[in-house]
Amino acid sequence: MRPIYMDANATTPLLPEVFEAMRPFWIEHFGNASSIHQQGQYARAAVDHARESVAKLLHCRASEIVFTSGGTESDNLALFGTLSEGSHLITTSIEHHAVLHAAESLAARNIEVTFLPCTPQGLIEPAALEAALRPNTKLVSIMYANNETGVVQRIAELARITHANSEAALFHTDAVQAAGKLPLDLSPRGPLKDVDLLSISGHKIHAPKGIGVLFVRRSVRLAPMMHGGTHERQRRAGTENVTGVVGLGKAAELAQAWLATDGPAHLAALRDRLEQGILAQVEECGINGESAPRVANTTNLYFDHVEAEALVIALDLKGLSVSGGSACQSGATEPSHVLTAMGLSPARARASIRFSLSKLTTEEEVDEALKLIPTAVARLRDLSPTWHNTAAAVA
Ligand code: PLP
Repeated sequence: MRPIYMDANATTPLLPEVFEAMRPFWIEHFGNASSIHQQGQYARAAVDHARESVAKLLHCRASEIVFTSGGTESDNLALFGTLSEGSHLITTSIEHHAVLHAAESLAARNIEVTFLPCTPQGLIEPAALEAALRPNTKLVSIMYANNETGVVQRIAELARITHANSEAALFHTDAVQAAGKLPLDLSPRGPLKDVDLLSISGHKIHAPKGIGVLFVRRSVRLAPMMHGGTHERQRRAGTENVTGVVGLGKAAELAQAWLATDGPAHLAALRDRLEQGILAQVEECGINGESAPRVANTTNLYFDHVEAEALVIALDLKGLSVSGGSACQSGATEPSHVLTAMGLSPARARASIRFSLSKLTTEEEVDEALKLIPTAVARLRDLSPTWHNTAAAVA
């Protein structure tokens, strides 16, 4: 049986069209986009074209796109590039570590940090943000879609509240798990007009790893983190990763085209089929963040009396790739900070698995997964001392 990949929130495969777009830039057109000779100018034109493609996906100006090495760098640049000693940062307890650990590092440098809690459904309450804003708040950073649960925040409203209550504060969103899954319109009259900074990552939208974007609204003054050449309008020094940029440009074009089709609805239907199929067959199991809005590709389920790590390994042995918590912390025995922030007990958080599909996932793969999962859960529960005392086991 062919392996089934349901871990798209960790990374996605390159699409063949993306690979083909990048191919000439490895050997044939290897120029440095800053060189004035023809090889350099060819690379420059390709970078400019890709910048336009990403700007179209985000409905912003090409000059507002800063290419980085990925989501982690974009998040760090947004935080370190806008905050200085004595200023105040508001973020949340459910961010990716790229924001969370950057915020902790800033806290050690005399920047005040407030971590907003979330509701049991994983949502950040607008009133909590409003109450946390202070005269010295310089940045609010709230993620768009959560990488573990897929829960989508009301970003337009949270950004509007930030600007309505503070003259100085900027609004950043980590949209790494939203890009390519939800329409993002940053135009001056669009729904995201109050968002000042937004991060995306190439490898989550079928572009290569090691390339990302920070959208920086024209009005924002951003201090660079790295010092060197004048690349990216002095916002990010370093020779451009031309092949990566070209790949991200192509992936952005494909994502935009896909968003305009019934692709997202089809993907949501496949995710729902998987969820409902599991819930119908497995007892003492449920969806984390079920009643919150979620991106179409993600479901996070708890299987009580099962260790997520053991289930991930059991499914992997059967050819199904999934993830327990976020991939970036696999190997750690700590329960997910996102699920515990939502109020799950450590045991339930440790029993939770993320399935993240992509536009390449097929109905046959979902049906095959639906055969594997109940059997794997039942086997592991058979070995679990706590399971044998439950009503479901006795029945
Ligand atoms: N932010 C979120 C929400 C993510 O899911 C990830 C990666 O998993 C990142 C940031 C980091 O992106 P990258 O892997 O490109 O550094």
